[in-house]
Amino acid sequence: MTQFDNSYARLPDRFFSSIKPEQAPNPEIILFNNYLADDLGVADWATRADILAGNTVPDGAEPLAQVYAAHQFGGWVPRLGDGRAILLGEVVTDHGRFDIQLKGAGRTPYSRNGDGRNWVGPVLREYIVSEFMHAMNVPTTRALAATATGARVQRERAFPGAVITRVASSHIRVGTFQYFTAQRDTEAVKLLIDHVRDRHFPNATGTIGVYEAIIAAQAKLIAKWMGLGFVHGVMNTDNMAVSGETIDYGPCAFIDGYAANAVYSSIDRNGRYAFDQQSNIAGWNLAQLGSSFVPLLSQELGGQEAAVEVLTQSLNAFPALFQAEWAKVFAAKLGISVPQDDDLDLAQELLDLMGATRADFTNVFAGLSSGAARDEFIDRDAFDTWHAKWMARIQDLPDAKAVMRKANPRVIPRTHRLEQAIQAAVEGDFAPAQRLVKVLSTPMDLAEDDIDLTRPPEAHEVVPHTFCGT
Ligand code: AMP
Ligand code: MG
Repeated sequence: MTQFDNSYARLPDRFFSSIKPEQAPNPEIILFNNYLADDLGVADWATRADILAGNTVPDGAEPLAQVYAAHQFGGWVPRLGDGRAILLGEVVTDHGRFDIQLKGAGRTPYSRNGDGRNWVGPVLREYIVSEFMHAMNVPTTRALAATATGARVQRERAFPGAVITRVASSHIRVGTFQYFTAQRDTEAVKLLIDHVRDRHFPNATGTIGVYEAIIAAQAKLIAKWMGLGFVHGVMNTDNMAVSGETIDYGPCAFIDGYAANAVYSSIDRNGRYAFDQQSNIAGWNLAQLGSSFVPLLSQELGGQEAAVEVLTQSLNAFPALFQAEWAKVFAAKLGISVPQDDDLDLAQELLDLMGATRADFTNVFAGLSSGAARDEFIDRDAFDTWHAKWMARIQDLPDAKAVMRKANPRVIPRTHRLEQAIQAAVEGDFAPAQRLVKVLSTPMDLAEDDIDLTRPPEAHEVVPHTFCGT
C-alpha cells in the first residue's frame, strides 16, 4: 500500500494551488516501469490506468500545482507554475523521498492559454530519453508510466492524448526561488531553502551551503550531458531543478554528427542553448539563483555587500568545478579513470577532429574500444596521429577497457528513431517505443538484432528540428 507523505503540501498556501486532475475518457497504459514502481511501493499501479491518467486520486495524495517564475530565453516571466503538471504527492522509499507527478492531466491555475494536456509524442520522448539517462547514471526525473487518455489533443492537428507519470526527487526549480524573491517574500525563500536542504542537501550549512551544493550538482550534471552529446534545448530557469536532476525533455536531442555548436530546438534561433553553451548557461542560471538569495542572505549577514560578496565567491567556483567534471567524464570516455592535465587536451583534440567532418559522436567513442572509430573519420591520417598519442597514454592502464565500456553507450535515443516510434504510436502501434525502452535500458550492451539502432540517420531520416512538447 502506497504511503504518501506530502512535505511540499505542508508549506504555506502561497507555494501552490490545490487542484484535481481532469477526467480522461478512456485511460489505457502504454508503458509501465515495473522496476521503478516496485521501488516506489506502487507496483499495484501496473493495472491502474485510472490513477495514472488522473481519474482516481489515490489515498493519501494531495494533488497540487506548484507556482514558479522563470527567465525564459533570458526574458523575465514573473509567474509561470505547473500549467500542465499536477503533483500527486511524495512517497518515501529506502533511498529517499520522491515526487509523483502527472504531466498532461488537465488545466491548472497556471495554464494561461494552454490546455494542460500532453500527447503521445512528448510523453514517449520523455519516457524513453529520461530512462536512457538514468541507465547512463545521469541524474534525471524518471518515467513511471505513459498512459493514453483516450482524448484527442489539438496541436498542429489532433493527436492522441497521453499523460506521463513523472518521478523526481523534487520539482523545485531555480524559478521557484526567483518567484518568491520577486514577490519580496523573503520568508518564503527561507522556508524553501530549509525545505531544499532537508530534501537534497542535509549536510549543507546555511543559505550559502545550499547554494554551493546546488552549484556543485549542476557542474556534475552538465558535464554528464556533454559526455553523451546531449543538448537540453530549453535551459530556462524553470527547467533547472535545484536537485541537480535533468528535467524537461521538450526539445532535447542527442548529437549524431558532432558539431560543438549543435542546436536542434526550433525556437532556439540564436543558439542560446547550443551544445557548447550549456555550461555557460548553467552558470548564468546559477547567477540568477544567487540573485534570488540576496535579500535573505543580506538579512543573515547584516548587509547586502557581504551577501553579494559570498554569493559571487561561490558562483565563481562554478567554471572550475565544471571543468574538473568535464575532464572526469571525457577521460573516462577515453579509458582513463584518474585524469591528468594533458587529458583535457587529448579529449579536446579528438572532439575537434570529429567536428571537422561531423563524425558520429556516439559511434566514435563506442568505436574506440572495438577499433571501429577510425572508419568514422574522413581524414584517417589525422585520426591515426591522435590514436597513437592516445594508445601511448592508456597502454599501462589495465582498467581502460572497463572504464570506457561504462562511459560510452553503444546506443542512444537518436532523434530519428524517437520520431519513428512516435509516428507509429500515433497510428496505435507502440512496439517501436517499447523496443527503444528495452534496448536503451542497457545501452552498453547490445544484441546483434539491435545493431540497426546504432546507425545515424540517412539523409531522408534526418530530423533537423525538435519542438517543445506543448
Ligand atoms: P516548458 O517550456 O515546457 O517548461 O513550459 C513553460 C511553461 O508553459 C510552464 O509553466 C508550463 O507549465 C507551461 N505549459 C506548457 N505547455 C502547456 C500546456 N499545454 N498547457 C498549459 N501550460 C503549458
Ligand atoms: Mg518546463
